[in-house]
Amino acid sequence: MTRIAFIGLGNMGGGMAANQAKAGREVMAFDLSAAALDKAAGAGCAKATSVAEAVRDADAIITMLPAGPHVRSVYAEQVFPNAPKTSLLIDCSTIDVESARAVAAQAKDQGFRFADAPVSGGTAAADAGTLAFMVGCDEADFAQVEQVIAPMSRATIRAGDHGAGQAAKICNNMVLGISMIAVCEALALAEKLGLDPVKFHEISSQSSGQCWSLTSYCPWPGPVPTAPSNRNYEGGFATAMMLKDLKLAQEAAAKAGAATPLGASAEGLYALFDRLGGGGKDFSAILEMLRGKLPA
Ligand code: NAD
Repeated sequence: MTRIAFIGLGNMGGGMAANQAKAGREVMAFDLSAAALDKAAGAGCAKATSVAEAVRDADAIITMLPAGPHVRSVYAEQVFPNAPKTSLLIDCSTIDVESARAVAAQAKDQGFRFADAPVSGGTAAADAGTLAFMVGCDEADFAQVEQVIAPMSRATIRAGDHGAGQAAKICNNMVLGISMIAVCEALALAEKLGLDPVKFHEISSQSSGQCWSLTSYCPWPGPVPTAPSNRNYEGGFATAMMLKDLKLAQEAAAKAGAATPLGASAEGLYALFDRLGGGGKDFSAILEMLRGKLPA
């Protein structure tokens, strides 16, 4: 399994494709953006002129695209008609569960093996090859999916059948969106109460308020040097992307009849921050809004 077609070389896909090349695999890369394609070529990938050309001789096809409609159209219009039936199809984009199941069903009808395999970890982990993958696929295909994903991964877990990877991703990011707002509210309150937010970080990190948003991604600048709060909230995981994931969670909850009131509040707060101009900032910048400030 050495010939990889990689479609979608953006913030995440660029680093992921580079790690496939670094592992000695032959990577045929394609993106609509010439700049993204040039960057992938600089990292050891071969440039394809279309999806059709990229997938023609592939053993495995990896896609890392913005959202459900992109994934549906790339597979239906370009991958299925041009890829060898023996190729293993792996979509790593974060998309709605319904689209993931629809593409999986079409793939199966046409004789392909397919996995939804969204990721957690952000651009730093994409570059370092340390993403966590949550996989929805037939049990019989998992070992091969794991082998293809290995150069990009620190943990690969089979969540269940098709769509289960996306379900896990949506639920995980709902926790993240809610917990970030909780941490930001507490930091803003600490400040108002005259408590040094950095001291609060130190205390809460060793108390029951401890969570990833506080200790690994602190929205207050200082305590966690690698966090985007130290770079004026540039890079990282954009508010617009978090909003997309929270919308997916709410749509899924409405369809499944699940009650997710805190998820709904988090979506509303991120939508407001997006409308105020924060869409391009890292999602931890919502701290500024909760401190009564507009995005810088
Ligand atoms: P991005 O916008 O930087 O990259 C998407 C790339 O897809 C772009 O380069 C675009 O040109 C390309 N593309 C779009 N349509 C295409 C087509 N038809 N053919 C070929 N290329 C096409 O986005 P990203 O940040 O890399 O995110 C990609 C996916 O990963 C999203 O689903 C996102 O939700 C998910 N994700 C992102 C992060 C993050 O921290 N950025 C973390 C986890 C998951």
